[in-house]
Amino acid sequence: MILALAGGVGGAKLAHGLTRILDPSELVIAVNTGDDFLHLNYFICPDLDSVLYKLAGINDTERGWGIRDETWNFMESLKKVGGEDWFQLGDKDLATHVERTRRLSEGQTLSEVTQALCLQHDVRHTIIPMTDHRVGTVVDTKDGDFFFQDYFVRLRCAPEFTGVHYKGMEDAVPAPLFNQALNSPDLQAIIFCPSNPFVSIDPILSIPGVSDAIRQTEVPIVAVSPIIGGRAVKGPAAKMMQELGLPVSATGIAEHYGDLIDGLVIDEQDASLSAQILPTGTGVQVTNTLMKSAEDEKNLAETALNFARLLSHREF
Ligand code: GDP
Ligand code: CA
Repeated sequence: MILALAGGVGGAKLAHGLTRILDPSELVIAVNTGDDFLHLNYFICPDLDSVLYKLAGINDTERGWGIRDETWNFMESLKKVGGEDWFQLGDKDLATHVERTRRLSEGQTLSEVTQALCLQHDVRHTIIPMTDHRVGTVVDTKDGDFFFQDYFVRLRCAPEFTGVHYKGMEDAVPAPLFNQALNSPDLQAIIFCPSNPFVSIDPILSIPGVSDAIRQTEVPIVAVSPIIGGRAVKGPAAKMMQELGLPVSATGIAEHYGDLIDGLVIDEQDASLSAQILPTGTGVQVTNTLMKSAEDEKNLAETALNFARLLSHREF
């Protein structure tokens, strides 16, 4: 069994590649919930939805988020009556938030709600929130602290990034299926998807017990670099690295994860960086890491799995 840690869009692409190779019983996808927030009294889980829509095959590839063939009647009407319109909610997408919020208010856990939504969408692979507790990623900047959506959507990531902290993390525990996967004797590898290290993967690693469990497991930990040729494919990862003083490259990703990972998959464009990364004790696999098609996703997933096999010196 393989455990994948994922944020939103970048994570969803590799997760989708993994689902094309591994059976539902062989893969668990644990997703960041640090971006979750209450908006218009609906509970919104941007990263869970990105992974869900992608695996359901209904994601919008052009816009890069949300559901394809979306309509915006609700948003236009909301604007007309003077409602809050800084966060875009398509009509189809809205149904997810309405139903999730209804189920949560009935007392279901976020894991249960996510499982129900997967079932409705015929997604058979396991997508789970990192935790059923409410935790919020707070972005620290030179202009002050902001909740993630505020920083990301309203401020468009402009303030200079200095780090993150989390609201509610002390009391959080990994979601039951995540905990089970982390401690399963069947676990064969953990893959960090090419998601934003600071605001997608780190929140997952910051749940009490998670990074200890990862350090203790014997299985290989493989990350895929979200930085290609000194740039993020999308989003603020590169800007954040620069503002933190990390090299804006796969080397910086290796530096950030340190000895938590055993290997890093980097892009062909960055092949020469192997010489910087290997001496730190992290293995390197070079391949095409830009996922523009389902074929790219599957190939990258295959490469990451083979690399993990190689690192563990055994077959799975
Ligand atoms: P978000 O919550 O939607 O921002 O999603 P993630 O954190 O999962 O993804 C953002 C990260 O994914 C960014 O740092 C991107 O550079 C990276 N990313 C997106 N698409 C690709 C891709 O095709 N290949 C790689 N290597 N990284 C990608
Ligand atoms: Ca996100």
